[in-house]
Amino acid sequence: MEYLLSTNGLTKRYGRKNAVDHVNLHIRQGAIYGLIGRNGAGKTTILRMIAGLASPTEGEISLFGETGKKSLYMTSRIGTLIESPGLYPNMSAAENLKLKCLALGVRKKGYIEELLDAVGLNGVGRKRVRNFSLGMKQRLGIALALVGEPDLLVLDEPINGLDPQGIAEVRETLSRLNQERNITLIISSHILEELSKIATDYGIIHNGVLLQELTQEELLARCSERIELKTDDTRRACVVLEEMGIRDYKVIDAGTIQIFERLNDGGEITMKLAENGVKTMGITVKNEALEDYYLNLTGGAANA
Ligand code: ATP
Repeated sequence: MEYLLSTNGLTKRYGRKNAVDHVNLHIRQGAIYGLIGRNGAGKTTILRMIAGLASPTEGEISLFGETGKKSLYMTSRIGTLIESPGLYPNMSAAENLKLKCLALGVRKKGYIEELLDAVGLNGVGRKRVRNFSLGMKQRLGIALALVGEPDLLVLDEPINGLDPQGIAEVRETLSRLNQERNITLIISSHILEELSKIATDYGIIHNGVLLQELTQEELLARCSERIELKTDDTRRACVVLEEMGIRDYKVIDAGTIQIFERLNDGGEITMKLAENGVKTMGITVKNEALEDYYLNLTGGAANA
């Protein structure tokens, strides 16, 4: 598959520490890619390297079909909101945008209104930015990142610190940009639950290492209701399951199988396994919340 952005062994070392450790990301054109990880996981460092604000110690980034040193043209196709958006508090939203347009030489008529519209700030008039809510500031930051029509938006924790209404507004803005303008988005967050409302793909990062990449469908499947079967012989257990007509299952590791159908037939499954000489060490119905899935993957809540 052709990716809009992929990384190969992307690494950033600070002193002896790998803040980002041989990360291979794969981001499709049109995706909303959620980069999930706790504080200090390495998300900002990855985004800074993608945006051209930091250079990798090792590894490569392929972007828009090109690998190697990013040209100015490539960098201009990326809009970024990393850390605070750098707004002028005594100016209005339109004035802030006008400044950036002037700096980048964008002179299209009606462009600023279009941008304000795109982020749902068309009604703010002359109100100064210092009187904006955090969510409004964040949306203005997104509008600033849109100046110059980027194909890729890189957003670092855009919902951090926002109240529920602010979160919903930013989320809606991002979905709209993705759908109406076909912009690919990379959004970092430490809250999987929030990202899961818009993301199409995920990369889960922990201690600089990419633990897993998965699509929204795969994530939902992994969190959906299932039987978790612990057995001493998964290979033979699979044969028995097949004989019972069970097809929707997955071998997770040497001793664990997840079964996604016939959730009420745990007793029958145990019996059939026993008849075939396969020992059941445990059988439970599980329904993992998204956040639990992520916490389990990254070593439990104790490390949060
Ligand atoms: P947060 O949400 O807290 O910013 P993060 O996942 O974005 O977390 P990074 O900011 O990328 O994580 O940091 C990853 C690791 O790299 C951390 O241990 C951090 O202390 C370290 N780090 C980041 N920037 C530097 C730097 N300039 N010099 C030294 N260490 C750094």
